[in-house]
Amino acid sequence: MDTTHLTKFYKKNHDDKIDSLFLAGVISKKEKDRLLDRTLELDPETGSHMIENYIGNYSMPLGVAMNYMIDKEELVVPMAIEEPSVIAASSFAAKIIGSAGGFKTTVIHRMMIGQVTLKNVPDIEEATNNVAEAKQEILSRANEAYPSIVKRGGGAKNLDVRLLEDDTDSGIPSYLSVHIHVDTQEAMGANIVNTMMEGIAPYIEELTGGTALLRILTNYATECLATSKCVIPAHKLKTQDFSGEEVRDRIIEATQVATIDPYRAVTHNKGIMNGVDAVVLASGNDWRAIEAGVHAYASRSGQYRSLTSWSKNEAGDLVGELTLPLPVGTVGGSISFHPAAKLAHSIMGHPKAHKLERVIVSVGLAQNFAAVRALVTEGIQKGHMGLHARSLAISAGAKGDHVQQVADILKHSKHKNLQRAKNILLNILE
Ligand code: NDP
Repeated sequence: MDTTHLTKFYKKNHDDKIDSLFLAGVISKKEKDRLLDRTLELDPETGSHMIENYIGNYSMPLGVAMNYMIDKEELVVPMAIEEPSVIAASSFAAKIIGSAGGFKTTVIHRMMIGQVTLKNVPDIEEATNNVAEAKQEILSRANEAYPSIVKRGGGAKNLDVRLLEDDTDSGIPSYLSVHIHVDTQEAMGANIVNTMMEGIAPYIEELTGGTALLRILTNYATECLATSKCVIPAHKLKTQDFSGEEVRDRIIEATQVATIDPYRAVTHNKGIMNGVDAVVLASGNDWRAIEAGVHAYASRSGQYRSLTSWSKNEAGDLVGELTLPLPVGTVGGSISFHPAAKLAHSIMGHPKAHKLERVIVSVGLAQNFAAVRALVTEGIQKGHMGLHARSLAISAGAKGDHVQQVADILKHSKHKNLQRAKNILLNILE
């Protein structure tokens, strides 16, 4: 990638942005033409095959975040998001973190978990022993239910048994859950795992004497964790009003608040998900699955807490870390035929699934850094309202150059609302 063409990317007009991505080697000539011709839309036939009662496409802006340096590799990151300022904040944070060495990531393993959950198990101990003894046979049967993933080097690898008991007086009876750990290779694996669970359920019923109530993967992907870390020297955090050390300490304190207070933690983590969801969506992955898993992971201690940790090292640098369950795929679902998802994968250089995880968790960390840094210094409204002003201008009916004109006046107005935007537009048009 030749990043010289991407300098001051945000200042270029739409067509020049696309041209510079082409010149930098991020997109091909064909992709450039598709972007310029606005032919990234899903065609009705494909849409009708994807969902039921299809009537049209719901458009979402697709943008790119700049300045990412992940494991010493420069990367342009595609993001699909409707919220203003997310991509600007992402690129800003990535620039600071990149100038300090960038993100260092780890993905220890990448396994999905399927559950066969049984009710009315007559003897829990006997059932547990029977399942443990039949482990190899259960795994073989799971693999027979989806042989192609075994040929690809994956498949069911391990199992364990969990007794599900409620420790309150709710009157809920016990259930037994057999967990199968599946290597789904490049796929997110929901359909692969679900097919396996349905395939083995009758045999598990035989072994346990219970009735299989549920046969599906869990989206709580605790064996598919990705971590990103960054170290930022304090002097890089300096703002007009605060020293670098003050900003560092305030970021640490703000994260402490999000660690002990769920009211703050939810908003803190929402900021992380601004970046995470945008890349998950752009890459054609199932963002509901990621959202559900991530928030469960934030509650793993028994209380909903901050997903990031920010601390300082002996040198006084700010040290950030984020771990997320990220069961994303580079194949499967609509990834291989959705035109915008295909483009997103191409922009990232067709990463393998573990690399996509590394990108997404780094974007989450960057997004959190940008949001908390702004919050503890000038506040987020200053940057946010500048971009929000453009949305208000568009809502007020402004077109072309008028959008920026209305936004510029609005930014300096006391009341930044739709009515004010409409009045400004009227004045300009008169
Ligand atoms: P698919 O059902 O599309 O399965 C993945 C396919 O990719 C396999 O059939 C496999 O083909 C093919 N493939 C090609 N190359 C590879 C490779 N290198 N590694 C692995 N597979 C490869 O997708 P998933 O099983 O990933 O399921 C994801 C979909 O399931 C998403 O759309 C999700 O929204 C949905 N879903 C999610 C649920 C949840 O999260 N709770 C529940 C139900 C569905 P081959 O057969 O030839 O090996």
